Amino acid sequence: MVLTKTDLAKYPFLKQAAEYIRRLDIKIEDLTEPENPIVLRAEQRLQEAILFANITSLSHNEEIEIPSFPLATLLAAATRDSFIKRRYPLAEAKRIYNLLKTEPAEKLIEISQQFNWKLSITSSPEGFHGFTLYFTDYLRNTSRLRDKKWKLVNRLLVKGNVYLTKPEVARLLAEEVHNYIQKRVEIKEIPELPENMKQIVKKLVQLTTESRGKIKITEAPKNIVIDAFPPCIKTLHNKALSGSHLSHIGRFTLTSFLVNIGMPIENIIDIFRNASDFNERMTRYQVEHIAGERGSRTCYMPPKCETLKTHGVCINPDELCSQIQHPLAYYRRKYKSEIQGK
Ligand code: SF4
Repeated sequence: MVLTKTDLAKYPFLKQAAEYIRRLDIKIEDLTEPENPIVLRAEQRLQEAILFANITSLSHNEEIEIPSFPLATLLAAATRDSFIKRRYPLAEAKRIYNLLKTEPAEKLIEISQQFNWKLSITSSPEGFHGFTLYFTDYLRNTSRLRDKKWKLVNRLLVKGNVYLTKPEVARLLAEEVHNYIQKRVEIKEIPELPENMKQIVKKLVQLTTESRGKIKITEAPKNIVIDAFPPCIKTLHNKALSGSHLSHIGRFTLTSFLVNIGMPIENIIDIFRNASDFNERMTRYQVEHIAGERGSRTCYMPPKCETLKTHGVCINPDELCSQIQHPLAYYRRKYKSEIQGK
């Protein structure tokens, strides 16, 4: 199947897209004027990723869309901001998943070739119409997915091939793209950027800081002070907001902490919304259970520092940490000094 220029704009991670950019012979020095549309689009990709964890597809605008992707990836790397570097691959993966779901099967096969997948269209005598994917490709791309349905034991597996539906293939391809971009935003050697791009990098870092501030103002009631969170909770909170996976104890600690400082359940659920395997029903159930609104009706407390240390959840303890034994005690003390300081 031949991929069109519109396909390359939709899926700019493809080798053919890189080849297309090479033919355009665009160099970074050609992108120094402030209103350059490629630079503006790269900036927009990152702004949307930071604010909405998603990116609008503008695939009709191929000359801009295709080169803006590697530029956005470079700018994300140049921010050296861990939130942006997690958030950008996640947002591109979501955009790609939404597009792939609607593509014909042959196109999914073609795109999967980029990653050397052993993917085939299949239909079984039992009436299954879909795909088979070789199990090593399957396992590589399900390691981040927590839903039980992705566990290999829960799949139909015949001669090393896993049966998949089209949305599932789209999901795993998006996961592969996520990993591909994530590797690229982690590059250490970043070329010297022209002044206009340095300014964009600065603005993106600022936007990240401000959008975290906005979460503080609009998503939490006034009496919750994010700046008073202990280091362990700050780390868990940032990880959850950027869609990173939290361990079971990390998730429990964050949720029970937020419940105990009075954050409304809806706001707590929203914090987990960016996770790649977010499931609203399941998250609501867990949060309500910890808040004592279900089951035993017990409102759970977060574990003590001692327990958190044993489980590796105590990260970057500061001076105040040496005077307390519980994350809630830290919060109460810091909260008072924050409020009194205002
Ligand atoms: S000492 Fe306690 S409050 Fe401080 S970071 Fe560790 S677990 Fe959190």
